[in-house]
Amino acid sequence: MRFTLKQKVSYSTSGYSYFGARYYDPNISIWLSVDPLSDKYPGLSPYIYTANNPIMFIDPDGKRIWITHVNKRGKEKRVEYKPGMRTFGRNKYTRNAIKSLNYIRQGANYDGGNKVDDLVASEINLTISKTNSLGSETFQPSIASPSIEWNDRKVDDYGYGNKQSAVVGLAHELEHGWKFIGLIEKAYQSNSDDDWHNVKEFQEFGNPLQDLSPDRLNEEQRAMDGLESRTASRLEQHVRSKYDYPLRSYESKNPFKTVEE
Ligand SMILES: [Zn+2]
Repeated sequence: MRFTLKQKVSYSTSGYSYFGARYYDPNISIWLSVDPLSDKYPGLSPYIYTANNPIMFIDPDGKRIWITHVNKRGKEKRVEYKPGMRTFGRNKYTRNAIKSLNYIRQGANYDGGNKVDDLVASEINLTISKTNSLGSETFQPSIASPSIEWNDRKVDDYGYGNKQSAVVGLAHELEHGWKFIGLIEKAYQSNSDDDWHNVKEFQEFGNPLQDLSPDRLNEEQRAMDGLESRTASRLEQHVRSKYDYPLRSYESKNPFKTVEE
C-alpha cells in the first residue's frame, strides 16, 4: 500500500490549515476533518465509494503501523512498526516514534487485548507522519488513510508546572485512531448502514461549521482518560482530569522529557 505525503498549506486568513482535503484547528488537539467524499456513500459500501480511488485502503497483508518522514533529499521514507522492535537507522524521528510506540504499548492493555497491538493487527493501515508544528498533533479520520501527525519534540505546558512530553501527545492520538479504526473494521464486517453511519459520524465530530458537539467532547475525554493518562501517569507528568488546553508549547530534545531545548 502506498501513500504520498500530502503537501500542507496554511491559510492564515481562516486560521485553519488545509491538509489534503481535510481541515483541522491547529490550536486544539482534535481534527476538524471530514472526508470530502464521505457524504457520498450513505447506505453504500465504501468499496463503491472508493471504486475510482487509486488508493487501496485495505491491505490484504495488513498488520501495519507506518512511521513516515521526508528525508533531506525530499524523499518520503517509511518504516513499518512492529511491537517491541528495536530502534534502528539514523533518522531521529523514526527512532523516537519507535521508542514512543513501544512505551505506550507497555501501558496499552485492556480487557480485550492491547490497543497498540490491535492497531498493528488491523487490516487498516495507520500512518504516523512527521510534523514540526507546535500547534497540535492531529488524528485524521480518513477511511482511505487514517493518519496521525506527530511532532516528536513538542511539550505542552498547562501552567503551574504541569507539562506533557511528546510521547503523551502520541498516546492521545493513538487512542482516537484505535477508536476510529475499530469503527471501520466493524462496518466492513457487518457492512450495515448503522455501522457505516457511526464511522461517518465520527468523521463529522470535527466539522468546522459546527460547535463542539457532546459526542466530540466525549471522544476527547475518552482519549484523555485512555492511553494519554496512562502514559502521562507512568512518566509522572500532568494527567488531565478535565478538558483543558496547554497554555503554551515548546520543543524538547527527548519525546519522554519536558526540559525546554
Ligand atoms: Zn483529541
